[in-house]
Amino acid sequence: MNYTVQEISAITQSRSIGDKKLRIRNIAFDSRTIYSIQDTAFIAINTHKNSGEKFIESAVDRGIRVIISEHHYPQFEEVTWIIVENAVDFLQQLAAYHFGHARIKSIGITGSNGKTILKEWLYQCLWNEFSTVKSPKSFNSQIGLPLSLLQINDSHELGIFEVGISKPGEMQKLEQIFHPQIGLLTHIGNAHAANFRSEQQLIEEKVILFKNSEVIIYNGDNILTDKKIKDLYSGKKLISYGLSASNQVYLQKNVKDEDLIVQYFGEELSFPAHQRDEATLTNALALITVLKELNLSNEKVIEKINALKSIEMRLEAIEGIKSNIIINDSFNLDLDSLKTALQFLKEYNKPQKSLVLTDIVGVNSNAEELYTEVADLVNEQHFNTVFLIGEVITRFSHLFTSEIFTFNNTQELIDSKRLTEINNQIILLKGARKFGIERLKDILELRKHDTVLEVNLNAVLHNINYHKSLLNPGTKMMAMVKANAYGLGSYEIAEFLQHHHIDYLGVAYADEGVELRKKGITAPIIVMNPEQHSYEAVIEYNLEPEIYSLRVLELFNDAVQKAGYDERYPIHIKLETGMNRLGFKEADLAPLLEALRHKNLRVESIFSHLSSSDMPSEKEFTLRQMAIFRKNSDTLIKNLGYSPIRHILNSSGITEYPDYQYDMVRIGIGMLGESQNSDIKKQLRPVVSFKTVISQILQIQEGESVGYSRRYKADHPAKIATIPVGYADGIPRLIGNQVGKVGIGKKLAPIVGNVCMDMMMINIDDIPHVKEGDPVILFNGQPSLKEFAGYCNTITYEVLTSIAPRVKRIYIKD
Ligand SMILES: *Cc1c(COP(=O)(O)O)cnc(C)c1O
Repeated sequence: MNYTVQEISAITQSRSIGDKKLRIRNIAFDSRTIYSIQDTAFIAINTHKNSGEKFIESAVDRGIRVIISEHHYPQFEEVTWIIVENAVDFLQQLAAYHFGHARIKSIGITGSNGKTILKEWLYQCLWNEFSTVKSPKSFNSQIGLPLSLLQINDSHELGIFEVGISKPGEMQKLEQIFHPQIGLLTHIGNAHAANFRSEQQLIEEKVILFKNSEVIIYNGDNILTDKKIKDLYSGKKLISYGLSASNQVYLQKNVKDEDLIVQYFGEELSFPAHQRDEATLTNALALITVLKELNLSNEKVIEKINALKSIEMRLEAIEGIKSNIIINDSFNLDLDSLKTALQFLKEYNKPQKSLVLTDIVGVNSNAEELYTEVADLVNEQHFNTVFLIGEVITRFSHLFTSEIFTFNNTQELIDSKRLTEINNQIILLKGARKFGIERLKDILELRKHDTVLEVNLNAVLHNINYHKSLLNPGTKMMAMVKANAYGLGSYEIAEFLQHHHIDYLGVAYADEGVELRKKGITAPIIVMNPEQHSYEAVIEYNLEPEIYSLRVLELFNDAVQKAGYDERYPIHIKLETGMNRLGFKEADLAPLLEALRHKNLRVESIFSHLSSSDMPSEKEFTLRQMAIFRKNSDTLIKNLGYSPIRHILNSSGITEYPDYQYDMVRIGIGMLGESQNSDIKKQLRPVVSFKTVISQILQIQEGESVGYSRRYKADHPAKIATIPVGYADGIPRLIGNQVGKVGIGKKLAPIVGNVCMDMMMINIDDIPHVKEGDPVILFNGQPSLKEFAGYCNTITYEVLTSIAPRVKRIYIKD
C-alpha cells in the first residue's frame, strides 16, 4: 500500500491529527517486531485480552511517527494520529478498499489444515514466475488477513492469502474484504470445530469465501464438501483433488517404484516422493492443481515440486562458536523473506549483529531500485558488519552504512576468515540458493553433531494458546521452565515466552533463575525449591521464592533483613493438599498468619499442586485437593487483609478441571504438546523431535554378532545401520536388544544389540531404500514421544529431562 494520512482518513472516514501529508506504506501492530520505521504506522489493537494502546509508547520510542488508535494521547506531541472508532473495523475497511483497487490475480486458501504450508509452497513455486505477495506467517484472521492484503503494491501480479475463521459469521465479513479469483479449499477436519455445530456448518461457512471466485479447487475426499460445492457453485469451474480416484486430480495407487504418479484429467505426471504421509501427498495434489491452473508446463511443475523445502526448515537459530547465535535462512532470497528474517532477528536482544547477504536472483526489477530498498532496510537495523556476496550487490556496497566487506562468492568469504573472528553476536545468513551459504552455517555452528533435539517454538505458542482458549481471558499463566525447561533449554524457551507476554516463569532452583536473569530475562520468576544457601542470590536477582514451611519463612525473612531490603519482599505460599511433598497444612495456618504479621514480606500468591490431575480414576481425590485448597486459601486471605492471587492447576489440571483455574494456572508438559487425554493431545502440536542420521550401513551374515557382549546374533543375513546416539546422549541402555525402535521414513527399525555410549545399531531389513546419511527419528513423530517413553518404561517428562546437554538444541520459529 502507499497512501497519505489524508487519503486513509478519507477512505475510512476517520479523523486525523497532525501532518496529513505523511505517507504510509506499512502498518505494524506489534511494537516489538517493527523492523522498519520508515513510512510505517503503528496500529493499537485492543482485544479482550490486551490493550494495544499500552504499546504506543514503545512504538513512538522506536521512531514511529504515525499512530492509529481508538484514543488520542496528547502527551505524544510529535506524532500524527489517525483516530478510529474500532481498530479492527478500520483495518478491514482499508483492506477492502485496497484489495478492491488492486490489479492482481489472487488465490484464497481456506480449510482446517494445510493452509500455511500450501501458501508457503505456492509461494516457493511461484515467486519467480510472477511478482508475488503472500500472507506473512499464518496471518489469516480478522486482523491478519487485512494486514496481509495491505502489503499489495503496484508491482505485484499475484497474491496468495490464507483465510481462517474460528466462529460462524466470520467468513462473510472476510469475503467482503477479500474475494479471490482462485479459491482453494484444503482438508476439512474437526480441529477448529469447537464453535461450530457440525462439520456441515463448518463447510458451509468456509465455502462462503468462494462466492465471487472463478475457479474453485477443493479437496474432494470429503463427501460433504464435494456435495456442498457442487450444489452451490455449479456455474463455476470446479476442480476436485484428493487421494480417492473419484477426484479429477488424484494419486494413482499401487505404484511399485519410488515415483508417485498423479492423474491430472487423464494426464499422468510422475514425481519422486520424499514423504508419503497422507497430509503431504494431499497438499502436493493441491499444489499441482493450482500450478497447472496457472498454466505452468508439466516440466516446470515437476521441477518446482522437486525443489520444495519444508517450511519448518526456513528459519533456524543455532548456537554458534564464540557465543554467537546463527540465524540461518535457507529459503530463497527476496525482499519479503529478507523482511521476515530481519523481524526474526529483532526478537533476540543481542546488541551486536552481523549480516551475510548475497545477490538477489530471479527478480526482474531494476537493480538500482531493488538494492536501494534492500540497503534502506538493512541500514535501519544498524548491523556492526555486513558481508556482501555476489557481483551485483557488491556494486551497490556504497549504499550500506555499516562496516562492509565484499566478496564475489561464498568461498572468498570463507577464505578471508573474517566470519570466524566474530564473537558474541547474532549473525544472520541470508542468501539466494545458488551461493550455497549453508556452508557458512557449517563453519559457524558450535557442535558438530548429527544428533539434534529440534524444538519448534511455533508449536509451543500454539499449545499455550490452545490452553489459554480453555480459560477465562483474565486468567494469568505461569510457564514452568524448571530443569532447563524440561530439557529443551530454559533460556531460549523463557526468552520466547517472555516475548509473548507470559505472566510468570517457574524454576526449581535459584541457580536456574539466576541464569535466566543474567541472560536478560525480566519476567517475574518463582523459585519452587529455594535452598537455604541460595537466599542471597534469590534476593539479589529479584527472584520470588516458594515458602512451604515456617522454618523456611524465618530463614528467608532473615536473609531479606540482612540484605537491607526495605519494601515488602514478594513470596509465594505453598499449601499442602494431598501430594504430601511440601507445604503448609491446615494446622500450620494460624502460626503462619501470626509469623507473617511481623515480617517485611508480601504474599504474592497462594498455591498448591495436584498429584493426579491426569488420572480420571483419581477425580474424587483431586476434587478433595481442590476443596482443601479452597478452604485453606480462604482462611489465609480472610486474615491477611489483602488478596494474593491463587493457583493450583498444572497442564492436565487446565484441560480436566478448568473450573478451578482461580487467577492463574501453571503450564508445563502441555506447552510441549503432550497430554494423557487423547482428545486434547490431538489439538496440540508436537514441539520436540530428537533426530540423528545414519553413520554407516553394514550387511552381516548369519551367525555374525552386533555390538558389545555379542547380544545380537543374526539367524539370517541382516542389514544393520549404526546411528551416532547412545546412552551418554540420554538414551537409556535398557531399550537395546529389540526393546526400542527408531523411525526411518514411515517405518520403525528395532534397536539391536546393547546400546553403546555414543552409538547404537538398528536392523533395517524391513526398510527399503535406506542410505547412509539418511535421517532417523528417535522420537516425535514416528515413534511418538509417548511410545519412546514406553520403550524406556518411564514417562515423557523423564525422557525429555534426560537428554544430555551435549545434544545440540535447534530452535525453529517462523
Ligand atoms: C512442574 C510443575 C508444574 C507443571 O506440571 P505439568 O504437569 O508439566 O503441567 C506445575 N506446578 C508445579 C508446582 C510444578 O512443579
